[in-house]
Amino acid sequence: MAGTVPAPGDTLEPLRRHLRDPSYGFDVGPGWRRLVLECHQALVAEFPDYELLAVKQKFGSLAFQAFPRPWKPGGDWTDAEHSRLRVVTSAFSSRSKRICERCGAEGSLRESRRIHLVLCDHCETLVPEHGRP
Ligand SMILES: [Zn+2]
Repeated sequence: MAGTVPAPGDTLEPLRRHLRDPSYGFDVGPGWRRLVLECHQALVAEFPDYELLAVKQKFGSLAFQAFPRPWKPGGDWTDAEHSRLRVVTSAFSSRSKRICERCGAEGSLRESRRIHLVLCDHCETLVPEHGRP
C-alpha cells in the first residue's frame, strides 16, 4: 500500500489459479491492473471457483472473460449465475472506459491509432502509433 505501485507481475497473481490455461499472459496495460484485481475480488466473493479465460482490451475497454465455474459439457451453472457474472464484469468494463490503461489516471477513448485506447492526455503523447500502453 502506501501509494507504491506493485510490480506488474505480482498484481494479478491471485487470478492465476482461476485460469483455464495457466500459461496465459494478461493482455492489459499497467494502468488497468488494479481495476482487473478489483474485478477478480468482486467475482471471487460470489463465485469462489470462477474460471478465467482471458483478460484483455477490446475496442478500448476491459474484457474480463470468465465463467461462474470450470466449464463442463452442458455448462455447470444456471442462466441467472451467468447473467450475474456478466453484470459484475461489465460494470468493470464500463469503469475502464475512463481509466488510462497506461498509468491509471483519468482518461478517455483515443481513436487516433489502429487500436482504440483509453489514455490520459499525458500518456496520449507517449504511446506511439503502433504501441501498446
Ligand atoms: Zn496515463
